[in-house]
Amino acid sequence: MKCLTARLAVGITGAAMMAATPLYSQMGAPGSERAGMPAVAGPLAAKYKTDADRILTAAMADNDGYAALTYLCDHVGKRLSGTPQLNTAVEWGADLMTKAGLQNVQVQPVMVPRWVRGNESAALVGPVAKPLHMLGLGMSVGTPKGGITAEVLFVPDFATLDALPSDRVKGKIVVFNPGWHGYGVGSMYRTGGTSRAAARGAVAMLVRSATGLVMQTPHTGTLRYDEKQPKIPAAALSVEDALLIERLAKEGPVKVHLEMDAHMEADVQAGNVMGEIVGSEHPEQVVVLGGHIDSWDVGQGAQDDGGGIMATFEAVSLIHKLGLKPKRTIRIVFWVNEENGGAGGKAYRKWIGNKIGDQVAAIEMDGGAEKPLGMGYGGFGGGRRQAAGAAPAEAPGLSEAEKQSVATMRDIAALLAPIGADTVSPGGGGSDIGPITADGVAALSPRTVGEHYFDWHHTEADTLDKVDPDSFKRNTAMLSVVAYVLADMDGRLVGRKSVFSE
Ligand SMILES: [Zn+2]
Repeated sequence: MKCLTARLAVGITGAAMMAATPLYSQMGAPGSERAGMPAVAGPLAAKYKTDADRILTAAMADNDGYAALTYLCDHVGKRLSGTPQLNTAVEWGADLMTKAGLQNVQVQPVMVPRWVRGNESAALVGPVAKPLHMLGLGMSVGTPKGGITAEVLFVPDFATLDALPSDRVKGKIVVFNPGWHGYGVGSMYRTGGTSRAAARGAVAMLVRSATGLVMQTPHTGTLRYDEKQPKIPAAALSVEDALLIERLAKEGPVKVHLEMDAHMEADVQAGNVMGEIVGSEHPEQVVVLGGHIDSWDVGQGAQDDGGGIMATFEAVSLIHKLGLKPKRTIRIVFWVNEENGGAGGKAYRKWIGNKIGDQVAAIEMDGGAEKPLGMGYGGFGGGRRQAAGAAPAEAPGLSEAEKQSVATMRDIAALLAPIGADTVSPGGGGSDIGPITADGVAALSPRTVGEHYFDWHHTEADTLDKVDPDSFKRNTAMLSVVAYVLADMDGRLVGRKSVFSE
């Protein structure tokens, strides 16, 4: 925490809270090989070819971004909201931006929750005795002292739970295994399953980890309590252990002992870290990009989201190193508290206030630094329910301005052909930029091959070695070109207002 307050120059003012929905379009189910729309070179590709090639060459030769990621992972490490490590990361991030020569470097103060995991364990106690591989879910309450021992009720899904008579659920530990149908479904059971089970009288909830990889590794993540229901403890199980319980439950009664010290402590001050390249002609107009600086309290937060903040940072730093002077301001933001509250994204929206119209575009990288295929763009026609292969240009209800914007992005994407990232896909966005993109700011995010992101996500295994340097550089290169062109070109992309719910 030392020195942090010295940099807390900007107050938070005004505006109502806005909920954000992550548009996990870049995180489709494994194997969802949506092709994206190919680039179509036009006037922008012609105008910016020389600058873009310089950026791409510099980015692919650059080692500073990956070196910074290495330091963040190995020397700061995991950085859950409310921990001293997060504030170390915040301070280090601001120093990094200052040393890179960015302007207006500041830490915007944000209060974040402090959830403490404490000691935790779970074990099968009948019909066999065996420890379970578990991780408590973020924001969960703990068990009473001495833990909970109860019979398990295994259910594959919400519908099965809701169809059971209450006396079958009351007093049980509900175990969900919806299978793996992508992160959208998996995270729905993780975030909402606890209160669904509590509403029926369950005493605790266990859920299969939201992953497709079966490697006896539990994946944590946040839950969200429905304030109308009793708060019961909840944890994620390894896929293997969830499947074991499922098999045993078919044979007869299964008993589990669960013990968790998890609890909330007082909120802690942290902050959004920001720096800029101030625009040469329209300094008030801003292209904002970044990721989230917090992580879970396991692993190193390497893919989630160390790679995101370091690739976006280096993308901006490279523009500065090359002496390029975009007409509009490019702002890098390391948002805070994405994982368990979204306080950073909401605080940023409040800080922008009624100048929302000057936010020209928002780019969030929070899907891992795997090999990029191109950019996701939308908010319209995108989102997690977008049908495979559907293109926004062909989506019903797209306005002429939106169609034109898609064409503009396909023109820009032509500049990314040398790194094989010359596609544009529906969707795009992220939970940190959700509060501003809901107000109509154009939303973008990298789209990658998405092969392994959910293998490591929110686990002890999310460590630096999972980030391939070449793929990381390609993300940096792509983001740098896109941010530069969006900040310099005549005209701007359109967004679409929406109401997001978390
Ligand atoms: Zn993330």
